[in-house]
Parts: sequence; structure tokens; C-alpha cells
Amino acid sequence: MHHARPKATFPPAGRSTSDLRLPTAFTLMCGKRPAWIGAKQIAGTGLRLLALCSQEPPFLESQLEAAAATMAELDRHGAKSELERLQQDRISALIRSLPVPFVFVDAQATDALINNDARSLLRLSPTEGGVERIASALRDLIQSQGDAAFHHQLAADPRAAATFYAPHRGRAYKAHTQWIDDGLVGRIWTFHDITEERRLEEALRVLASTDHLTGALNRRAFQLAFRSEVARCRRYGVALSLVMLDLDHFKRVNDTYGHQAGDEVLKETSSLIRSSLRESDIFGRLGGEEFALLLPHTDLDQGTVLAERLRKAIADKPVNVGSALVRITTSVGITTCRSQTDPIDTMMRRADEALYAAKADGRDRVVSIP
Ligand code: GH3
Ligand code: MG
Ligand code: MG
Repeated sequence: MHHARPKATFPPAGRSTSDLRLPTAFTLMCGKRPAWIGAKQIAGTGLRLLALCSQEPPFLESQLEAAAATMAELDRHGAKSELERLQQDRISALIRSLPVPFVFVDAQATDALINNDARSLLRLSPTEGGVERIASALRDLIQSQGDAAFHHQLAADPRAAATFYAPHRGRAYKAHTQWIDDGLVGRIWTFHDITEERRLEEALRVLASTDHLTGALNRRAFQLAFRSEVARCRRYGVALSLVMLDLDHFKRVNDTYGHQAGDEVLKETSSLIRSSLRESDIFGRLGGEEFALLLPHTDLDQGTVLAERLRKAIADKPVNVGSALVRITTSVGITTCRSQTDPIDTMMRRADEALYAAKADGRDRVVSIP
């Protein structure tokens, strides 16, 4: 059988406090037996607010109620901020453990969360956590990549998402920023280190555009470079010469010393040619033992001087292949860009004609066609 527990009110109905057996501590606290005892539940807690009065009349019941309500409020508030603190700690721990640099700046720009990777990316010391310092480091990073479109995008719409590429301390980063409004309100920034990807892309690009034996551009890459170089030279009215070289009687080299020796001669000849070029010159292997040079800022006379120097250098420097010393000569044809409208294939055909003339003339010589 269950009895409802009697509700504890003080003093219990029909009894005076003098009828109650009270703990000595209570009595001592009031100096005598308390004249009045009141209790109020503090909502949301298992606690009661107990008031002892040494004399009548006690303070008003409503005052005790208000005090209990205030305490309940304080408790609620305290519990909430404790919860918030806990959540904040969890978010911070999560952000710390993210394997990519991560920054969050809240909507009012009064608070920021940042992990160590982002700290070192932004060159912030472990103690520099102020939101202003973080924001200014982010600004510096954005400005360092100089993409005006990106600046405008963010300025026009503060909630815009954006992606940009930023070089930083010799590495390349793909940065992404977006506005979030999901519990946390503000802007998040993530940074992906794409240095390796870029390196791989570059390696693939080089692999696809160069001839593996000689390191010269392959035919396709040379033609692409030719096209853009011609366009550039026309735009700025810069002289441009085209040289074609073909090794003489190369078949004999293969026949006499073997194909591998032939390869060695091709390599050596290529590096000899390359060593006498300028940074802006373009060097390609059009096929077999035929090479081409594109010389910006070089007119026909200057180009002919260079071609003659190359011809002589190749003829004067036999290639060491095993125990044999292989002598090789080259025939060279050269032409220049005639006008703003001189087509690429016409230039190629003229250089080829010049080369053919050099062969027909007895080889080991330079022939130019303006
Ligand atoms: P010419 O003076 O008329 O140019 O005579 P040539 O023998 O050089 O010309 P031809 O075009 O008859 O022969 C070119 C030779 O180059 C034939 C080919 O086997 C050889 N060749 C082409 N590519 C390579 C290569 O990558 N390695 C080697 N070793 N030989 C090659
Ligand atoms: Mg040849
Ligand atoms: Mg040939």
C-alpha cells in the first residue's frame, strides 16, 4: 500500500514551530527556536530554499517564492553556459584534429576558432588567437594572391562562397571559404595543400610535351609553342626566326655504330644545341634526326649567325660512343617571319625548303630564305 508522502510545509498545518523537534543547528542559527520556517522548491533542481526566521512576522511568502525563482533562473543560466562551454570545447577539439588548416570567424567577428595547421599557414604563433589578428592574417593571404575578382565577390556579398589559389611559403594552396548558419554563424575557411597535385600535373605536362630521348619539345608541343610565339611576336612587332636542322647521313651512323650509338649522338647533339640557346628560344625535335628552333627577337641575319655557329660546333665536336668517336655534320635551313600575316605553315615550308637546299648543296651548311 502506498501512502502519498505528506507535503513538507513549515510549520505543518495546525502546529506551531515550538511543537517541532528541530536540529540544534537551526535553533542555534536563530538564537532560539525559529518562529517561522518556510521552504520553496527551486524549480529544475532537487533543491529547496529554506528560510528560518527568529521572530514574527516572517517575510512574505511571495518574497521567498521570488528568491527561489531567481535561484532557479541562476541555475538554469549556469547550467546553460556550462553546456555551451562543453559544446565549445568539443567543437574546438574537433577543429584541432581536422587534418586540414581550418578557420572559423563568427558573424560578429568577435570570436574565431583556428587549428594549428591554419596557425602555421597564417604564420600565427600558438598564443596569437585574437580574432582581429586572425582576420588580418586571412586578409594578407587573400591579398597575396591578387585575384581581384575574388575580392569583389566577397565584398559584394559577405555571405558568398569562394575558392582561390594561394601560393604560400613555396607551397600551393586551394583555399575555400563559405558562410555557415547552422548552430555556428559565420565564415569558415579551409585550405588544401595542392603542391603535390601541381607538381604531378607539371610532371605530366612535361612528360606529354617533351621527347624522352633528347628532352626537346615533341613535334606537337613545338607547334603549339610556335603558334603562341608567332601570335606574341606579331602583337609586339618582334622579329622571329625559324631554324630547321637535319643531321647528315645519320642512317650511316646507325649502320656503322648501331642504333644505340645513334641515340647517343642524338642526345649529345641536342644538348650541344640547347647549350647555345637563350631562355626564350624554343627547341623541338620534329622527328627522327630533325630538329627545329624558334628564335624570338632574332632577325634573319642574327639567326643565320647563330645557325652557322651551331653547324660549326656540331661539326667540330665528334661524339664519344663507347670506344668510337663519331663525327657528324648538320644541314640547316633558316627563315624569318615576313609580315604580320605570314602563316605558320608557310614559314615551316620555307625553312624546310632552305634545309633541302642545304642538303642539295652538299650538306654541312646553312641556307637562309628571307
Ligand atoms: P640525310 O643526310 O639526307 O639527312 O641522310 P640521313 O641518313 O640522315 O637521312 P634519312 O632520313 O635517310 O635517315 C634518317 C635515319 O635516322 C633513319 C632512321 O633510322 C634514323 N633515326 C630516326 N630516329 C632515330 C632515333 O631515335 N634513334 C636512332 N638511333 N636513329 C634514328
Ligand atoms: Mg638526316
Ligand atoms: Mg631526316
